[in-house]
Amino acid sequence: MTKNERIWWRSYPPEVPKHLDVPDVTLTQLLLSAAEEFPDREAVYFMGKRMTYRRLLSDVSRFARALQSLGVRKGDRVAIMLPNSPQAVIAYYGALMIGAVVVQTNPMYMERELEHQLRDAGAETIICLDLLYPKVARVKERTRLSRIIVTGIDDYLPWPKNWLYPLKLWKDGKRVTVPYHEQGVFRFSLLLKKALAKPVEDVNVDADDLALLQYTGGTTGLPKGAMLTHHNLVFNAMQCAHWMHDCRRGEEKVLGILPFFHVYGMTVVMNFSVHMAATMILVPRFDVDEALRLISEEKPTVFPGAPTMYIALINHPDISRYDLSSIRACISGSAPLPVEVQQQFEELSGGRLVEGYGLTEASPVTHANPIWGRRKAGSIGLPWPNTDCRIVDPNTGEVLPSGSVGELQVKGPQVMKGYWNRPEETAQVLKDGWLSTGDIATMDEDGYFYILDRKKDMIIASGYNIYPREIEEVLYEHPAVKEAAVIGVPDPYRGETVKAFVVLKEGHQVTEKELEQFCRAKLARYKIPRQYEFRSELPKSAVGKVLRRVLVEEEKKKAALT
Ligand code: AMP
Repeated sequence: MTKNERIWWRSYPPEVPKHLDVPDVTLTQLLLSAAEEFPDREAVYFMGKRMTYRRLLSDVSRFARALQSLGVRKGDRVAIMLPNSPQAVIAYYGALMIGAVVVQTNPMYMERELEHQLRDAGAETIICLDLLYPKVARVKERTRLSRIIVTGIDDYLPWPKNWLYPLKLWKDGKRVTVPYHEQGVFRFSLLLKKALAKPVEDVNVDADDLALLQYTGGTTGLPKGAMLTHHNLVFNAMQCAHWMHDCRRGEEKVLGILPFFHVYGMTVVMNFSVHMAATMILVPRFDVDEALRLISEEKPTVFPGAPTMYIALINHPDISRYDLSSIRACISGSAPLPVEVQQQFEELSGGRLVEGYGLTEASPVTHANPIWGRRKAGSIGLPWPNTDCRIVDPNTGEVLPSGSVGELQVKGPQVMKGYWNRPEETAQVLKDGWLSTGDIATMDEDGYFYILDRKKDMIIASGYNIYPREIEEVLYEHPAVKEAAVIGVPDPYRGETVKAFVVLKEGHQVTEKELEQFCRAKLARYKIPRQYEFRSELPKSAVGKVLRRVLVEEEKKKAALT
């Protein structure tokens, strides 16, 4: 036991074990146990249709057979480019069942990004939405793709009346009919049907085998594939289950708004739900009205999300008309959760919303506040069981004493094997099992961690280090502010100066001067934003993380034009 562990373990709720022994099982085995123990439990709810665990396992096995019959073998990379849907769940577990390595692909990728990812991963198979087919077809020649499996959003059992109809795809803005198997194009529902006749060939898949290449910019530039094993992902799902210690297997319903192509949605919604034999209420695209309707009608008990989702919900003009009382537990991750938002959401729902933290390279979760124990405002909480942490000097890597500010490093069973085909980048972030997160953090005397910022987002003005998050927190406290993002912009005297981008709540007005005065009362002089820009929205990633990087690029372009 390290000195640090002793500190944060004192803060653990008594119900949460400090150490977990996770059996050496694969992700597929999680599904097998759920289907064996809870065959009639609803696994998926999607657009008015429901499917049991028995049915899910049967379709996953059929899809696995179909992939085998197309020639997919253990270790082959299979890309999935789908919004949350039953097909996304079936494709994922089907590929994993035969030992293939899943490459999650964001459906919003432009051709260049898609091509980079498919080439880098060496994927030969992709499962994509019919609407995305033209994009995939255009990059096919420049990649190793030889099989494209296409599905419409509702083109799936038990509701395709039309599953024997010819495959229709979008080409040049028109629906055109494509003969089956033309140029390696296959139809998802038909593959499932045809696979009925064949058994899955036995493949020996070990917990230590690679399950996923999850693409991330990491701490530096170009997207690279974090190699996550079955063991990494199973462990993180089980750590999640232990953290939510009052969740019961076979009884929970999880709202699946976070996209599965992001590791956060994949682990905390999909793998966690399957491990808990919970119902996944799938939402293909975040829409506030639809989310509120689903919460009041389908009554989820667990709602993992990102801060922007909770912000959108609490600011809905008719929020009081919806019943949110089924929600018991929410973990917010991927970006800082403003304290104001946490409080308002809890008042409205009566559930608990806690901030957590993680990164792609750690499957992703490493920290969270206790859900039913003591939370600390502005903190990412305590390290999860079996997760060790330390703070190091960001320049020298020297381990710093407790209470210091520095780069957060984590070590644990959820930490990746490395980056796919990139030994140099791997060596930069992974040494002796310690993963450098690129986040500047500190730990308090109770073992709670605080992310002050990204190493690269830190602003240096007149020699002072300024962390945007602290200023954003203050702006969020202003009653007219809905969203805020802060960046550093070049300044001839101070090196950099602070600029705030602000989205106002509907019907609210505020001037730059008023915001400046508001910040003046709460922040040291050098931190007060000198520039403000009002916007109707902020650039965001697929999980709703505000992209400060995009704002920085926009500012650079503007500066180059003047
Ligand atoms: P990704 O790999 O896309 O999941 O991004 C991981 C990064 O998101 C981390 O390294 C952090 O910079 C950021 N992040 C995640 N959770 C939080 C949080 N609660 N507070 C602040 N930053 C966060």
